[in-house]
Amino acid sequence: ENLGLTITVGEILVEIMATTVGAGFLSPQSFVGPFPSGAPAIFIDQVARFGGAAGIVAAVGADDFGTINVERLRADGVDVSAIATIQGKPTGSAFVRYRPDGARDFVFNITHSAAGEARMTEAARALVAKSGHVHVMGSAFAIPGIAAALVEAVATVKARGGSVSFDPNIRKELAQADEGRKLVDDVLAVTDLLLPSGDELLVAADAATEEAAVERLLNLGIGEIALKRGSAGSSHFSRQFGRVDCPAFSVEEIDPTGAGDCFGAAYLTSRRAGLAPARALLYANAAGARTVTRQGPMEGVSSREELDEFIAAAGREVGI
Ligand code: ATP
Ligand code: MG
Repeated sequence: ENLGLTITVGEILVEIMATTVGAGFLSPQSFVGPFPSGAPAIFIDQVARFGGAAGIVAAVGADDFGTINVERLRADGVDVSAIATIQGKPTGSAFVRYRPDGARDFVFNITHSAAGEARMTEAARALVAKSGHVHVMGSAFAIPGIAAALVEAVATVKARGGSVSFDPNIRKELAQADEGRKLVDDVLAVTDLLLPSGDELLVAADAATEEAAVERLLNLGIGEIALKRGSAGSSHFSRQFGRVDCPAFSVEEIDPTGAGDCFGAAYLTSRRAGLAPARALLYANAAGARTVTRQGPMEGVSSREELDEFIAAAGREVGI
């Protein structure tokens, strides 16, 4: 049985970005977009571009915003057979504006959009039946009813010896208090690879320090933690290899959105291709760094060859 297929479940969105830095959307301003987006979509697109077999369970509207997403994913090699088209609802969207300190304000239309209709359809079950890895994106928890689909996908894949990765990227605008916490704990209990960013590590572990958080999470049975540190690079923690740090590549940051998703996808796909953690981390850092140099969350997704060139051009070691 071929367990090579990686799938994810969650929102497909267009992103529409303010062209000026500032707080929020309380006055008329200009925007650029639509760009294909949605954290699960960015992730799965990067899996496919890196050379992994990839599919997504999601839903779009019968409109241009849906079309640009589905066509991008299809062109990059993602199995789009489990993307439902919902009549009478628009494709999901996110308006985003950057503050001077790099923080972001969002206005999301997910729950009441086609994205909110993502479910475990027959097409989705057929995709899950072929897959050996499920990636859980915390942002997908904003979709009502998505937990049941995720639980089913995880149970099916785990029962056949597959694995689970988890990026707990829950934006403040999307957080669902107590219910969200229980979902996070349920997913942590079955996670093989955890991909937190900054404080998410402490929140996920309910711990005060990085060391305590790592200890608690590895004790839970999580095999690997790849911690994203933005422009400070990343670290990997496991019982087998201890702590491995990977400094960031030095790039000009144009648009940080999507860096974490591309990092996670490149890391996971490298590991599933049999690379050691240190080398997978180098690819992941390179994928994150390349993403931030392009405007638009999915515009900086990289092929493995592009990452090899990028790593070599920076004088970093590829062949570990
Ligand atoms: P997202 O913005 O998608 O939520 P995240 O917060 O999950 O991202 P980050 O830590 O911002 O994840 O980025 C992931 C990885 O991408 C980092 O660990 C780093 O390797 C790389 N990266 C991100 N920003 C930069 C940067 N400004 N310069 C170099 N590398 C970067
Ligand atoms: Mg970030």
